Amino acid sequence: MESAPTIWTTAQLALQKKLDRDSYERYLAGVNALAFDESKDVFTLGVLNDFSGLWLESNYKDVLEEVLRDVLGRRITIKFEVDGRLEDVAAGAATGSIIDGVGGEPENGDAAAEPVPRCRYRPDFTFDTFVVGSSNRIPYAAAQAVCKNPGKAYNPMFIYGGVGLGKTHLLQAIANEVAARRKRAKIEFLTSEEFVNLYVEAIQTKTLPSFRRHFRSLEILLIDDVQFFEGKVGSSEEFFHTFNTLHNAHKQIILASDRTPQEISGLEQRLVSRFDCGLSAETLPPDLEMRVAILKKKQETQTIKFPDEILFLIANRITSNIRTLESALTRLIMNVSAFGSELNLEMAEELLRDKFENETAKPLSVDAIQRRVAEYHDIRFADMTSKKRPQNIAVPRMVAMYIARKLTDMSLPAIGDSFNRNHATIIHAVATIDKRMAADENFRHNVNVLMRQLRS
Ligand code: ADP
Ligand code: MG
Repeated sequence: MESAPTIWTTAQLALQKKLDRDSYERYLAGVNALAFDESKDVFTLGVLNDFSGLWLESNYKDVLEEVLRDVLGRRITIKFEVDGRLEDVAAGAATGSIIDGVGGEPENGDAAAEPVPRCRYRPDFTFDTFVVGSSNRIPYAAAQAVCKNPGKAYNPMFIYGGVGLGKTHLLQAIANEVAARRKRAKIEFLTSEEFVNLYVEAIQTKTLPSFRRHFRSLEILLIDDVQFFEGKVGSSEEFFHTFNTLHNAHKQIILASDRTPQEISGLEQRLVSRFDCGLSAETLPPDLEMRVAILKKKQETQTIKFPDEILFLIANRITSNIRTLESALTRLIMNVSAFGSELNLEMAEELLRDKFENETAKPLSVDAIQRRVAEYHDIRFADMTSKKRPQNIAVPRMVAMYIARKLTDMSLPAIGDSFNRNHATIIHAVATIDKRMAADENFRHNVNVLMRQLRS
């Protein structure tokens, strides 16, 4: 009889024909043949970890048994066992499990051509490649603290902020760092969407016990894009129990979302209050200096380097999303490497015209700010410009002034005009709101919610 590895090699060839290349590469290429017990007709495959076994069991068992039956000419049963040797192979990229990572989320435009990484962790999303500035200092520091002291420093840690501002990067950096420090740490990184899908699968395939065992025995659980739990009652419930089990055992939970827990409508209240009991930190849009620093950092790994004037052109025009900032640079690099020409400012401007136009499509108007703030506080739009001074109007009005100052490029006198006031009133309002935000967490939260809604 042929050996298990030889049989497996033949089976792999058949699998490659049956499955699309991506699924094969992702889920089956790394599987080993461990043993073939002829007396019982059991074929044992070696997998990276429990989770891989679970995944293969629920998704690929039938096709695997079918293929092996063809190869061997009789019905066989498949078993999965964790093969320690696989960990060493995967450890280079700190692979925690086999489902493709969130970090590989497809981007629009030029970066779409990048190959989908096979491992869950993006090796390039580390603390080293993360530029720190005033807009992300707090989430960065918290992420570092969590790495040093998982389960003890801040638990759970909740990172929120707009699209493309480094949430996934930070989560990945934590996973990479912990995996590098302790090779065998039980870490799982996935999006809430993946969690929901796995949960549904586990129900369908009657494998809930192993699903639970897996998630409830982790040391570190990182869940990205938590907002996807919105309205998913069954899986949120399951996650709630996972959360409690881990939290009670002082295991670290790290969550990221484009909104605060309170803003995720349809998220169960008890889950919201769980999320709330740790540390929340926001990733804000970077200022100009930091945008330039990010472009320079990105250039470090490239052979093509652009002069500062081109970097400043990009950084000046793309302000709200670091992903867009990077993809603008990538486009210029690809262009130069394809055509080998020197790039001047005009050419760069022309090449990036669509990206610039997208950015400037809707500059935020004071009018929009006044409307949104009035609506939020349930006062009349006209009260924003009126001379009335009761507290319930005066405070929201100052909030609108504050936001206008922070989120538009308008001058103080121009903002003053929009409120039917002078520039000194605006300065006073900004100082008052700043002070109150520093002193009152609830107030700060409300203002931040408004700012985030207006920015997006
Ligand atoms: P989010 O998850 O918040 O939508 P990502 O973490 O996916 O955003 O970040 C989008 C892109 O911007 C990634 O390529 C990431 O590496 C990059 N990026 C974000 N923040 C930073 C930063 N502070 N320094 C360097 N690169 C960053
Ligand atoms: Mg993300």
